[in-house]
Amino acid sequence: MAANGHHDATKSFDVLVIGAGISGINSAYRLATELPSASFAILEARNEIGGTWSLFKYPGVRSDSDLHTFGFAFNPWKKSNIIASGDSILEYMHETLDKFDLNKYFRFGQKLVVSLLSSVWKKSRLTAPHRVRTGGKQTSSGASRLT
Ligand SMILES: Cc1cc2nc3c(=O)[nH]c(=O)nc-3n(C[C@H](O)[C@H](O)[C@H](O)COP(=O)(O)OP(=O)(O)OC[C@H]3O[C@@H](n4cnc5c(N)ncnc54)[C@H](O)[C@@H]3O)c2cc1C
Repeated sequence: MAANGHHDATKSFDVLVIGAGISGINSAYRLATELPSASFAILEARNEIGGTWSLFKYPGVRSDSDLHTFGFAFNPWKKSNIIASGDSILEYMHETLDKFDLNKYFRFGQKLVVSLLSSVWKKSRLTAPHRVRTGGKQTSSGASRLT
């Protein structure tokens, strides 16, 4: 975090995850707990958590599958309604982030616009050149290493 309270957009990471939907949250938990030595960030083009579940707000929006299978294995769904409304899924995602202290890994308003997977392996890591845009401007480019 830079002194002005904003994330340092030029920092490089071992792993970049794209998207703050349910997959991004799961990735954050898995990386934090199973690969604690790796630095990582989750870039989200929009300004909020949730992906599908914060984007679609039409009346009656809900899951098709039950939340025992759709929910996080590491934070099982405990409510009685197993087919859940979009709002309650979004709430569950926020609760999960708070419970496992995952908010700090997310960077909003940052869209990955280019990512070319290089075939060059360096020290058994794959280099992925990329460009990121924040508010329409390119804010970083570089070669984060994907493990
Ligand atoms: C009404 C509805 C009901 C559904 N019900 C179910 C269900 O019951 N079971 C099921 O398995 N699936 C269901 N789905 C599908 C559902 O979308 C996915 O299963 C799941 O929510 C997808 O999560 P995700 O994190 O992979 O992607 P998303 O929720 O789509 O999130 C992706 C995120 O990545 C961000 N992003 C994309 N590109 C970039 C980029 N270049 N740079 C930065 N950020 C980027 C997007 O802004 C978005 O926030 C449903 C979908 C809808 C619309």
